[in-house]
Amino acid sequence: MTNKKNKQKKLQHNLALTSLPYEVKTSSSLGRYLVASKNISYGETIITEEPIAVGPALGVNRACCIGCFIQLDSESHEKCEKCNFPVCKENCTKYHSKAECDFFKEKSLSEKLTFNELFDLLFPLKVLFLKTASPEKFEIVQKMEAHIEERKLNKELWEKYQHQYVSKIQSLINFSEEEIQFVLGVIDVNCFELGDQQKQIRALYPSAFLMSHECVCNTRHTDDPQTNVLKVMACRAIRKGESITINYGYTLQGTLMRRQYIYEGKYFWCTCKRCSDPTELRTYISALVCKNCEDGKVLPVDSLDQGGSWNCNKCSLTLQGDKVSSLLRALYNELEEIGPHNVKKQEEFLSKYKNVLGANHYLFLSAKYSLCQILGKMDGYVINELSEEYLRKKETYCRQLLAVVGILEPGNSRLRGMLLYELHAPIMVSLTRQIQEQKISVNKFKSSVKEVVRLLTESFNILKLESEGTGEYEISIAAKQAVDSMT
Ligand SMILES: [Zn+2]
Ligand SMILES: [Zn+2]
Ligand SMILES: [Zn+2]
Ligand SMILES: [Zn+2]
Repeated sequence: MTNKKNKQKKLQHNLALTSLPYEVKTSSSLGRYLVASKNISYGETIITEEPIAVGPALGVNRACCIGCFIQLDSESHEKCEKCNFPVCKENCTKYHSKAECDFFKEKSLSEKLTFNELFDLLFPLKVLFLKTASPEKFEIVQKMEAHIEERKLNKELWEKYQHQYVSKIQSLINFSEEEIQFVLGVIDVNCFELGDQQKQIRALYPSAFLMSHECVCNTRHTDDPQTNVLKVMACRAIRKGESITINYGYTLQGTLMRRQYIYEGKYFWCTCKRCSDPTELRTYISALVCKNCEDGKVLPVDSLDQGGSWNCNKCSLTLQGDKVSSLLRALYNELEEIGPHNVKKQEEFLSKYKNVLGANHYLFLSAKYSLCQILGKMDGYVINELSEEYLRKKETYCRQLLAVVGILEPGNSRLRGMLLYELHAPIMVSLTRQIQEQKISVNKFKSSVKEVVRLLTESFNILKLESEGTGEYEISIAAKQAVDSMT
């Protein structure tokens, strides 16, 4: 190849690298939103970006490092020598800028505020500080949606924020009430929740917030635990011109509660395909068992009407919307109370309500997801010692969840990757026992192992796209090692 051609090729390559796969469009209903500017393939990265601001998550009330927000165990931790707030190690200044430290010191904040009080104000303060510290970042913040008008209508919330944040911040630094309420709104509406159990954080990103919401979305995202760089990728092929969407809600939650949750956080009532279909794309994830005919499924008449009544699809039974809401709340609380690590109680829940909740009900799926994760790992339920009965249960729950997730999160969703990994274990253990006890032929064993390899390979291909250092990425490595040992 000639030098000139080589250069040309390089230039084209560089152009391809720099051209974004999306463009920003504006509409009256969606505001600004992202649209694919080319055909995007499965797994392709759409956005990679650093955060504009990072702060501790809401409600973190154990002592955390002011520099990196990692939770500190003991009472005796190091302190920042200047401002006197706790740090994980000397000079941990990852997100503790000199300007911020100087300000805390100048105001003697460690004497005026408890650490929890400061942590409550820390993220809003960090975003407000951008106004002088980084005007170009603050300009991006100013373009974000804060839903001030809707928030004003919620008097209780408005006054709580006035009392909890605005007056406290104003006593420290000169910002107007309007500016502070705006920043509080921006944080509530646009933040991404990141981190793990050791480090719960929130971050604002410069373009990811522009993705519009859909309950069955076409992207997934992951963040680097070290740098908090966010990577948004396509979880299925996206055609040029299609909106690039994110799901703010929980997949394994029914429409009634999911829409309420999205409304409270984002100030709109979702009307997507999943929300407008009472069967939720034929998953029947919200369906109740009819206690009249014992055969029909009780579903909302109009799933976009939050208070509307529910009808049986086989007989004339009708339930009032508020009755359904309070039933769902009570059962949700009961499951929360049990917690995700109690095998016996989770199983009791499944049998106790089998005549109330449909087989695919999201509360059942939640319990089954917990069981999939702990069966095989927890003390007393280690995989190699698991009874055949429990192996079968784990396999059945995984398969049932995969069927639902295949519809509600089509494509290479993270949840699918995790479930495929969980599914391989009971199958493999059971096969090994059967061949050892000579209950199956070598040929049958070999062909079944192929199925296990297929599950693990798919899991690896999905989870290897997660950021290094995350639990999911670790599982991708384990899946790869398992495949290598079998082939
Ligand atoms: Zn630290
Ligand atoms: Zn400091
Ligand atoms: Zn929806
Ligand atoms: Zn009925």
